Amino acid sequence: MQFKKTATIVLAATMIVTSFSFNTVSASETAEAVDQVKQIENTESERTAETAQSDFGITHVILDDSNMLDENNQAIVVGYTGDTPEKAELNVKNTKTGENISINSCKISSSGLLFEVSSGLDDYELIDLSIYNNEIATKFDMKKMGFDKDKPDAYLDENEIQVENYSDLENYSNLARSSNGKYVVVLDPGHDDTHTGAAANGISEKDINLKIAKYCKQELESYYGVQVYMTRTTSTCPYPGTTSTDDNAKRVEYAKSVGADAYVSFHCDSSRNSGASGAKIFYPNANYNGNIGSQGAGLSQKILDNLTSLGLNNHGILIRNSEDNTLYPDGSLADYYGVIRRSKLNGFPGIIIEHAFVTNKSDASFMGNEDNLQKMGHADALGIAQYYGLSKTYFGIKSVDFS
Ligand SMILES: [Zn+2]
Repeated sequence: MQFKKTATIVLAATMIVTSFSFNTVSASETAEAVDQVKQIENTESERTAETAQSDFGITHVILDDSNMLDENNQAIVVGYTGDTPEKAELNVKNTKTGENISINSCKISSSGLLFEVSSGLDDYELIDLSIYNNEIATKFDMKKMGFDKDKPDAYLDENEIQVENYSDLENYSNLARSSNGKYVVVLDPGHDDTHTGAAANGISEKDINLKIAKYCKQELESYYGVQVYMTRTTSTCPYPGTTSTDDNAKRVEYAKSVGADAYVSFHCDSSRNSGASGAKIFYPNANYNGNIGSQGAGLSQKILDNLTSLGLNNHGILIRNSEDNTLYPDGSLADYYGVIRRSKLNGFPGIIIEHAFVTNKSDASFMGNEDNLQKMGHADALGIAQYYGLSKTYFGIKSVDFS
């Protein structure tokens, strides 16, 4: 970590980002942040502003690493959730002269605000952010929200942020949301030689799941900002001597140990009805930690969209609740599938992709073709990449710190 930092900056969002699960800040967290500001601000228009802006929340702050002593301006990106403001204004303080300077955003997108600090201002602090809708301002006091000095959520290297390439910022922002600058995705090829899963029409789950997952890994690793792990890479059971339940439990434990942001389990379906065909994905229910459920739903939908675009029948994304009244710690009904339930208990979404039916002649013959397995793995990877906003372009996030 060698920042050539020439500006002193107090940056926002540390508090929110620390506690947030990465794709979206939950509504309650956002509301909390706004409430805090409300208490601090206590402005006359408080009531109105709260109504108008209560869903706005700052998620992160990123700055480019331009040297303030040269000709370049310094770019600051403030990531947010909620309605797109009509106008945004950043208030900074020149730490040498004590002068307050107001900077209007030079670009507003659906998830970020771009500001440029002129190169003449070489030492400054970030004071507050005002957003405007219908002439009503809501002010976020970044300093009082408890943010660490000199700790942005990310610095960028190589690529200076330019207004012209601002669309790339969506990707910068997404990258910066993960705790180490990389999303950790654990791919779980379901079953193994010991716990074999379904087999029909010459297609065996244990083999096909592994093949698809390997293709997925290979493709996913061609994106920046993601770290991919597999629960197994051979046909052998990764935890010899375990029951199927314990095998799956240990796989999720492994995912936890590598810091998983998501657990994606690869399976194929089977049915007594040989006419049943196509893809479906199970995701976590809304109980216990609803945010994990909604992340799982978003991820699942992206993947399913890509799978069904290969011509597979669309059975949708589904939840399945416990059928023996297994409960989450808060007393709510648990998810039926162990990998989904245990992933949620460990703080990340787990999903199960049922790619196609081995018991269906048409699906089985589709999967009998190696090219199609690769297409399925790539479809899964594309869905994951789309959900996390990953890119194959290098953005050079130099460092990310949410502490
Ligand atoms: Zn299976």
